[in-house]
Amino acid sequence: MSDTRRQDARHVWHPFTQMQTAPPPIAIASARGASLYTEDGREILDLISSWWVTLHGHAEPSIAEAIARQAGRLEQVIFAGFTHEPATSLAARLTAELPGDLNRVFFSDDGSTSVEVALKLALQFWRNRGEHRPRILALEGGYHGDTFGAMAAGASSGFFRAFDEHLFDVTHLPFPETWANDPDVERKEAEALAALDQALADHGSATAALIAEPLLQGASGMRMCRDEFVRAVSERLRAANVLLILDEVMTGFGRTGSTFACGRAGVTPDLICLSKGLTGGFVPMSVTVCRDGIYDAFLDSDFERAFAHGHSFTANPIGCAAALASLDLTLDPATQLRWGSIEGVHRERIAGLQDDVLHARICGTVAALDLPSEQSGYGAPEGPRLKEYFLEQGVLIRPLGNVIYLLPPYCVTDEQLHRGWDAVDGAVRRLGKESAR
Ligand SMILES: *Cc1c(COP(=O)(O)O)cnc(C)c1O
Repeated sequence: MSDTRRQDARHVWHPFTQMQTAPPPIAIASARGASLYTEDGREILDLISSWWVTLHGHAEPSIAEAIARQAGRLEQVIFAGFTHEPATSLAARLTAELPGDLNRVFFSDDGSTSVEVALKLALQFWRNRGEHRPRILALEGGYHGDTFGAMAAGASSGFFRAFDEHLFDVTHLPFPETWANDPDVERKEAEALAALDQALADHGSATAALIAEPLLQGASGMRMCRDEFVRAVSERLRAANVLLILDEVMTGFGRTGSTFACGRAGVTPDLICLSKGLTGGFVPMSVTVCRDGIYDAFLDSDFERAFAHGHSFTANPIGCAAALASLDLTLDPATQLRWGSIEGVHRERIAGLQDDVLHARICGTVAALDLPSEQSGYGAPEGPRLKEYFLEQGVLIRPLGNVIYLLPPYCVTDEQLHRGWDAVDGAVRRLGKESAR
């Protein structure tokens, strides 16, 4: 056993892992582009962007250099009472790409904290305006992170049962999950919107905000909805004077085939959460961006109205430098062409699997399908076996229960992506054979 494996076995606790039954982790020594290299020299193709963060590729040189330059100049400074060029440039450039008057950037550390900030801003916004609006709405299956507010908003994902009694109350409304050639999509959308209408009619004036992952719910199984639904939700909330928080922690920066899912859907939320791909997946950082009107409600001569929230590393200059370099690549027309080619390969390959899988679906650069299974959801028994199978094939694909999905970094070549789909083909055929026995 290598030193890494030995020390890991003795001292390390891994995320989302049952440490007693999980196979020992694979030690990675280096990475480049879409490839990870193990300590013993094996290549593994990363087709899930290392939990959805790696945007342009591992060790992408322009981002690595920006980080090194920034670390040698200004690595960190307190962000209350001080500012710096990487933060101001990033705030200016990011807001220029976001729709409408999403103009004010609050920095934090990761997806979960960006959601905490959004929820707290929404609640305090109404309080500052003298209205009592304690209620929060969310969509069934939404996942927003693992801190307490984010767990409350994502309670219906089923990951947090150990903490149920400590989570504040959130009303979860139906999500009209859909896929290619779904004959029922309009009925499901009508039902979801009717439930929203009812919630707004019953408690609209006591509701601060609705939080949602637009177009694509990640953790609950790459569940997709149509642009039309996101637009209809936004219109209803605006009419009812309830804030819309879009959690684009995963969908941001091109995953849905547009720079932001809200732009693709033609919606301007009141608050938007961005993280994961923000720094190209190099270092943890997040932002919560709000519309001018939200920010204005916190302005007062009294500190009581201020947003009394901050983290030690708020707007860390190294994170900002990475985000600026990543944004250059995201806005490069060559990158945006890749989004289309990735989607093209997904379409071609998923068509060949239509008859053997359920609910084939594509949203921009993300493709997903369900394997026929006795038990759907994260606990489906196929998950761990498939993960092993894919690793034997030299690809990192990590099914969510019986859901297989590909969410590659944009540097992936067509050849590499086809290799991934070949492995998916193999998995579907193998599983088909097993269940026939
Ligand atoms: C991953 C994720 C989060 C949480 O982000 P962390 O960086 O893991 O805290 C929140 N929302 C969505 C939609 C996510 O996919």
